[in-house]
Amino acid sequence: MAPKMMKAAVLKEHGKPLVIEQVPVPTPEGRHVLVRVLAASLCHSDLTIIQGKVGASANTPLILGHEAVVEIEALGPEAAKYGLKVGDRVGAPLWQDWCLDCHECKAVGTEFCAQLKMRGVTSPGFFAEYTTMDAASAVVIPRDSPATAAQLSPIFCAGITVWDALTRAELRPGETVAIVGVGGLGEIATKYAQAFGAKVIAIDVHDGQLESVKAGGSADEILNTRDLEATEVIARIRELNSGRGVDAAVVTSGSKAAYLTALSILSPLGRLMAVGIPLEEVPINPTVIALRALKIIGAKVPGQIGTAACVEFSQRKGIYPKVNPRKFQLEDINEMIDLMGAGKVEEGRMVIQFS
Ligand SMILES: [Zn+2]
Ligand SMILES: [Zn+2]
Repeated sequence: MAPKMMKAAVLKEHGKPLVIEQVPVPTPEGRHVLVRVLAASLCHSDLTIIQGKVGASANTPLILGHEAVVEIEALGPEAAKYGLKVGDRVGAPLWQDWCLDCHECKAVGTEFCAQLKMRGVTSPGFFAEYTTMDAASAVVIPRDSPATAAQLSPIFCAGITVWDALTRAELRPGETVAIVGVGGLGEIATKYAQAFGAKVIAIDVHDGQLESVKAGGSADEILNTRDLEATEVIARIRELNSGRGVDAAVVTSGSKAAYLTALSILSPLGRLMAVGIPLEEVPINPTVIALRALKIIGAKVPGQIGTAACVEFSQRKGIYPKVNPRKFQLEDINEMIDLMGAGKVEEGRMVIQFS
């Protein structure tokens, strides 16, 4: 039985530190289930939500957190038909409460439903001992999985988002992909891209992160573009890639410079995968797109189906994100936010471990 009260990290006011306090344990309604959080990791989007820069509909007080592994404690009245059992270990994408009736839900993907809510943005998230979640969004982790909740947690935002990008990029074996920005999302993107048979060039402006993916073996080449002119970037990529540009570039960074770099290094017919969300306009020159016959393809957090496919692939291939070895507690949340804000992410995704 879940207790009546629980500890949660609450955003009271945008731009201010989160406050750890006791709040009531929620009751699952409709198709929601009550879950006990085992591990919850910090995502870069959490920082922008705290600052009030994205999720304009995020009202305070708000419990953030959308990347976690949880255990099911109790089923809501309409949850049983989704096949979940008390005691199952599950994860889920950011999206939930899609309608299941609209054209997008039926024919395109639940992640495009206009009705959906965002965990940790428009509904309570995982930076708490308990929460409720939509059973239709949940993906069960096999009982024989050797991975810990902390290892699996970052798959449920960082992992599935780059999974969506790399599957939409339709990489063929022998192609070269540049991962532009190798923080949390980019780090796991290098691993998936290699498993898809591509040569991987990691690009960033932080040596620590580049050396981390090189040492981990998931980047075939690394390039720090911080002090390079645009023409030097192109020349260096050609040196690293048998005289040619890259077939696809996955931009995980939200910086304008990252997008412009990615466009410049694509070979003819190359695909630019847009993942990172810039807070400023990025000028795209249609002449460049036309003359090299490039494609610009969007990617986002998938729904339950894409999430399940990513989790299955990760288990089968033994691909897990790099996780910071420190066992963070909920009380460490503001320190974690400061570390991520300062770009100190080379030790891996920071995960709060509740048990
Ligand atoms: Zn996220
Ligand atoms: Zn819908």
